[in-house]
Amino acid sequence: MFVVYTANQFIYSRQERQAPKEGPLEEEEYEDDVPMSPTISHNLDPLDQAKLYSCLDHMRTVLGDAVPDSILTQAAIKCGFDPQKALDAVLSEDAKTAPGTRSTNEETASVARVNQEKAPLPQRTKQAAVAEKGTPGADQIMTNLLVRSWENGVVTASVRRGGSPEDATATPASEATPKRPETPAKGSNGDEPSTVPTPGRSSGKARQSINIKAELEKRQGGKPLLNLVVIGHVDAGKSTLMGHLLYLLGNVNKRTMHKYEQESKKAGKASFVYAWVLDETGEERDRGVTMDVGMTKFETNSKVVTLMDAPGHKDFIPNMITGAAQADVAVLVVDASRGEFEAGFEAGGQTREHALLVRSLGVTQLAVAVNKMDQVNWQQERFQDIITKLGHFLKQAGFKESDVFYIPSSGLSGENLTTRSTVSQLTSWYSGPSLLEQIDAFKAPQRSVDKPFRLCVSDVFKDQGSGFCVTGKIEAGYIQTGERILAMPPNETCTVKGITLHDEALDWAAAGDHVSLTVTGMDIIKINVGCVFCDPKEPIRVCTRFRARILLFNIEVPITKGFPVLLHYHTVSEPATIRKLISVLHKSSGEVLKKKPKCLSKGMNAIVEIQTQRPVSLELYKDFKELGRFMLRYVGSTIAAGVVTEVKYCVLLHESGLMFFNY
Ligand code: GDP
Repeated sequence: MFVVYTANQFIYSRQERQAPKEGPLEEEEYEDDVPMSPTISHNLDPLDQAKLYSCLDHMRTVLGDAVPDSILTQAAIKCGFDPQKALDAVLSEDAKTAPGTRSTNEETASVARVNQEKAPLPQRTKQAAVAEKGTPGADQIMTNLLVRSWENGVVTASVRRGGSPEDATATPASEATPKRPETPAKGSNGDEPSTVPTPGRSSGKARQSINIKAELEKRQGGKPLLNLVVIGHVDAGKSTLMGHLLYLLGNVNKRTMHKYEQESKKAGKASFVYAWVLDETGEERDRGVTMDVGMTKFETNSKVVTLMDAPGHKDFIPNMITGAAQADVAVLVVDASRGEFEAGFEAGGQTREHALLVRSLGVTQLAVAVNKMDQVNWQQERFQDIITKLGHFLKQAGFKESDVFYIPSSGLSGENLTTRSTVSQLTSWYSGPSLLEQIDAFKAPQRSVDKPFRLCVSDVFKDQGSGFCVTGKIEAGYIQTGERILAMPPNETCTVKGITLHDEALDWAAAGDHVSLTVTGMDIIKINVGCVFCDPKEPIRVCTRFRARILLFNIEVPITKGFPVLLHYHTVSEPATIRKLISVLHKSSGEVLKKKPKCLSKGMNAIVEIQTQRPVSLELYKDFKELGRFMLRYVGSTIAAGVVTEVKYCVLLHESGLMFFNY
């Protein structure tokens, strides 16, 4: 028996639906949630003792040894062991006492001194420079602290400051009026002068006006692009099936295939010969599993298909999410052999989890390759049995019956891959399309070329020549060489020197393309997988806190406030916590059933507030579907799918100082 998933009821048709019918829930409602200890007592019970240690650890990652233990402990106890609040308390204490009193305030001075000694700033902030010239104060201390925390990969302190012009955005988070950052990037220490891309002002080379839709059509020669991900349980035959398909399409020449045959025989793994077409690294071959998301291109009659072979091994799910997040359509491979289909389908198998994942990440069209049919003598009953079991599940996972297609196949013998089968045992009952025909028949997705430019970075590497390269899928808009683009985080601009698509240099690329960009004017260390490159005039939101509507899967442990999760979206995998449980919603109407629930259990639909460890770039689901949905994982399993409903604030460090974005 499995849980009735209702992902379709909330994620996939949200554009047709009204915003969740929850009443406005004020920030203040929650501020007194955290129990405040009226008197500071160190006689803690063991549970509180543990909480205290955990809170102190957390604070130390941000503050280092700069602040004495006694102060941290006091703040931690006062703030009910909430590291966020405790940090705020320590920092604002500094803010109150620091200006003008630094020489007499030993602790503050020690904070500044330790930070100056221990953490020389890679870039000097404007505030720091001013502070050093004039009265060094709390601003500098906080800047230093945050620089340190940034270097440690942790930005947890929310800083409220007043005074300087940059502080126009430093309104309390509770006001939460949607507002884009007013002071976005400046170019960094790169090899080009930087510009400040304020809205309305042209940045970098003027965008040549091109009719992007017409250009796209011209380039594709009438063949739209389709991003396809292959999913399924380990050993279902994904690599073999796709490798064989590529071979039959002539994408692998005979000599290379012969080489693979020889090598695989020598290695005693002859049956993996087609899988070797896709499993390119030695380690994958040794282990017989595909670990990374390899990409290959092939053509059908009416489409250009980018194929992402997703790994089936459980450890590699995060990589699979990267592939699936970029896919338009999916091929789910299941092993028809007796016992094997069942093993992949039952709890612990990856068939269900993969199907749920791709559906939650926006894939609506699915071809199910019922593979290894040679193992069951091409029996119609077995095929039907699998269809019935899977069909029931896929419907509950949110796939429309009319968008799911079942194809009996054999990856090993190549039956029903590129041409219809001639095996009489099969043709006696199956006259449907081959796998390739089905892929060709998929509807091509609409590309959001009219929206502002967005590219999620999936890889960063140094190439020859100046600058460095990033790869990723353009989620929206388009880009031309010579243009300046903004990276979020770190909120800095760079120039696009080159664009490569499938090893071909181009002048422009548009939504849907998997490109490699060569960029200059920025330090490579600033860019990580998960950064989003965007239009400087219409930047993506960056935050450490956001609200979302989530659907909980079949979870064993109920979710309570402070629950630790891994946030997965696009190429990002970021530690986070469920900061607040706002409300439980009715699954289909979106009506609020309960405000401030104490816990959330399986199958529930809820609004929660999520706090990430470092700033993440995302959009509201209603504005950018592609950039507003995510998955939550906990100790190796996917526990929820969600969509972003509200973006809260973020502190970002920048050359020009701290940036406080309050949306
Ligand atoms: P993956 O982990 O899903 O990528 O699976 P592989 O492609 O690595 O295949 C796992 C094993 O199943 C290999 O030994 C393949 O030779 C075998 N295999 C794959 N497809 C078929 C098939 O259609 N029929 C039979 N009999 N074996 C297959």
